[in-house]
Amino acid sequence: MKKNDVLVWLDSNAELLQEVARDLWERPELPFAEEHAARLQSEILEKAGFAVRRNLADLPTAFVAEYGSGRPILGILGEYDALAKLSQTVSSRCEPVRPGAPGHGCGHNLLGTAGMGAALAIRQAMESGAVAGTIRYYGCPAEETLGGKVFMAREGIFDDLDACLTWHPASMNVVWGCSFLALNSVEFRFRGTAAHAAAAPHLGRSALDAVELMNVGSNYLREHIPEQARLHYTITNGGGAPNIVPAEASAWYYIRAPKRHMVEEIFERLTKIAQGASLMTETEASWALLAGCYDVLPNAVLGELLNKNMAELGGPCFAEEERAFARELAKSFGPAHKEKVMQAYFAPPEIVAMDLHEGVVAIDDRNQIMAGSSDVGDVSWLVPLAQFTAATWPVGTAAHSWQATAASGSGIGFKAMQFAAKTLAGTAFDLLSDGGEILALAKAEFAARAGASGYKSPLPEGAKPVVQQ
Ligand SMILES: [Zn+2]
Repeated sequence: MKKNDVLVWLDSNAELLQEVARDLWERPELPFAEEHAARLQSEILEKAGFAVRRNLADLPTAFVAEYGSGRPILGILGEYDALAKLSQTVSSRCEPVRPGAPGHGCGHNLLGTAGMGAALAIRQAMESGAVAGTIRYYGCPAEETLGGKVFMAREGIFDDLDACLTWHPASMNVVWGCSFLALNSVEFRFRGTAAHAAAAPHLGRSALDAVELMNVGSNYLREHIPEQARLHYTITNGGGAPNIVPAEASAWYYIRAPKRHMVEEIFERLTKIAQGASLMTETEASWALLAGCYDVLPNAVLGELLNKNMAELGGPCFAEEERAFARELAKSFGPAHKEKVMQAYFAPPEIVAMDLHEGVVAIDDRNQIMAGSSDVGDVSWLVPLAQFTAATWPVGTAAHSWQATAASGSGIGFKAMQFAAKTLAGTAFDLLSDGGEILALAKAEFAARAGASGYKSPLPEGAKPVVQQ
């Protein structure tokens, strides 16, 4: 079996992948509730002869499926969680399937399925004797709340990989050479004393005052943190009725920064602000780290190999009706929004002008930082990892939008997913068949970039995943 036969195998099994992706799209499951998705994908792999380990890191919807033996060991990361309240039909108007229900507004129905498809294709190549080694597909839950890979990483589940590949649905066919922001998700809680707000305010100690003062303090802190760092918060408990001094209140913060150590430094300073607020209000402050992740450590050697494979495939090719659907969808967000969204992805003007991206573009974004966070970052600090995006959505579609849900359930999403599966399979085939040369280069680059700092789980000892929506 040659490399091209692997790609042909994926084409002849396009229907299977499409059925799985559509099935997941029709049954969107929230983080940690992806029982159907994990079962469906793990059973397909098991039937194909993969050894499946479920319930990884005590996460019921995390699994790994492995085929082959010995080195190299290649990993492909998959995700399958959906987002709350993003239910949407395949339509160019905002029209939920079920109002208030979840939807695949980040395209994870496509993300995991392409990875599963690539693992199945590599299995064919191994079976034929064309390549040797081990291929693993990781079913990773709860990406949206950073609840999966960070816990899996803590268990050492990725440690023995020689390299790891993944991708993400988006508007462009491009390798991601950029980094992402490291993150801590923290809830600050205050406990005071309740009192009648009119009759006995002097007896009350307001936890809500503490939250508000903490937020004021953190807004002053903004000026004195690194430029690309981000702080955002919501008040998750502001008390109850206004005539009672709130005894309990809390604020949920995200702290993001280009490097993990920066997040930790800002977190430390934020805890001092919380203590200050507690002192001012005579309330008790406490905090809980709900989730955390690393920045992404890119790997140019693996990125170039992905890019070569994408260029050889030439990108997805859409039908006229898909282009027409893309144009209709784009009308719902307009050109100004389209341009702004694409700028965030460092897109060149010629792509911004398109309705759907059908080629492959090489963007030198190696020194850029995408203003988002992903638990892919934690894996990237353990083993050489590269990722790319495929044009599953019309140009200018924002992630986590109803338009992204619509496109992720349409022919556009399925075709780009097929392209992603072929890119992953082609790249994995190259890594398994060149005698280890590229892997050696990728590892040398990884060692040089990671330096001596190593990976230390952002999670406090004994931390368990928190279900957040
Ligand atoms: Zn996503």
